[in-house]
Amino acid sequence: MHDKIKTLTLWHVALPVSTPRDHGIGLVVGDVEVVILKITTDSGVIGWGEASPWPVFTGTAEATMSAIERYLSPLLIGRCVAEIPAIMQQADKTIVGHPEAKAAVETALLDAYGKLCELPVWALLGGCYRTEIPLSVSLADPDFARDLDLADRIRDAGVRIVKVKTGTQGHDFDLHRLETLKRDYPEFDIRADYNQGMQAFEAMRRLQDLDEFGLGFIEQPVAASNRMVMAQLCASISTPLLADESVFDLPQAFEAVRDEICNGISVKIMKCGGLRRGQQIAAVAEAGGLPCYGGDMFETGVAHLAGAHMIAATPNISLGCEFYQATWYLEEDLLDQPFPVVDGKVVVPSTPGLGASVNEVTLKRYARSTCTVS
Ligand SMILES: [Mg+2]
Repeated sequence: MHDKIKTLTLWHVALPVSTPRDHGIGLVVGDVEVVILKITTDSGVIGWGEASPWPVFTGTAEATMSAIERYLSPLLIGRCVAEIPAIMQQADKTIVGHPEAKAAVETALLDAYGKLCELPVWALLGGCYRTEIPLSVSLADPDFARDLDLADRIRDAGVRIVKVKTGTQGHDFDLHRLETLKRDYPEFDIRADYNQGMQAFEAMRRLQDLDEFGLGFIEQPVAASNRMVMAQLCASISTPLLADESVFDLPQAFEAVRDEICNGISVKIMKCGGLRRGQQIAAVAEAGGLPCYGGDMFETGVAHLAGAHMIAATPNISLGCEFYQATWYLEEDLLDQPFPVVDGKVVVPSTPGLGASVNEVTLKRYARSTCTVS
């Protein structure tokens, strides 16, 4: 329990993806880049963490490598792994922003500390509220026929939530896709995510068109900074409105509740900088009577597991999660066992730490650069 951190190793990894994806603010083709962090304690216990930056959303893998190697590693080497709140507070004072780097550091600390205490990460976060999390798969292929093929496969696998990435190829294309899914896939709870893809000027009329589909929610239709427009939309449509890019940190969560810009918040450890901060954002949402959703970035199973433990321990992150990439998007995941999805739900591990490790052979195969600090 009182182990000290001896070494820290980083890999910048590029992982091939199965199909192109169009997400309003950016197109993803070929591969996605993540940074994997491994800390090793003086007794040989290992903790894994992941940073999943996206240049148009949070940041770059190169900057994440530098943030951890140069600025955050001095806070870690020689420190007791149990000092998680103190280390994370110092991280905020040492480098502004870089939430993905901070999420990776906190995840690795929690993984190692959990192994030392022989407790799953959710136990370190307050205990278990839920053991399974309904999984949402995002449909974002520019070729809708390929998305329908994916819809068939995930329906057969028990998935009952889909999120359509709208606002990329015109309003008529969005209406066509939503009509098709509503008609041909009655099992699905359908949601839409614009990723800020709509101009404020046109948003009101277009979102009112979507009300007839009875969607589960509509996520971030306009730019993150268009908070007044978000509030106007929220008051004018019948579909619940979810804030994603408008809420990165605690002050933004407070303002979102105070200014009534949304009916729910997407919590992502890569936006807020860690699992404990994600729980704090959920608590602020709860104070305003809002539920939260388990969002993610382009992640591997490592970050998915971190998010799953956070949701397991946090009652009002109640709208499911979108941890589907490890199973249905990456050509190959980094975990040494399949990310746990059974019958359309993420099954939260109950073994110590995150509950899985990274396959280092796979990791090295896709690594672009690596460094070690001790
Ligand atoms: Mg989103």
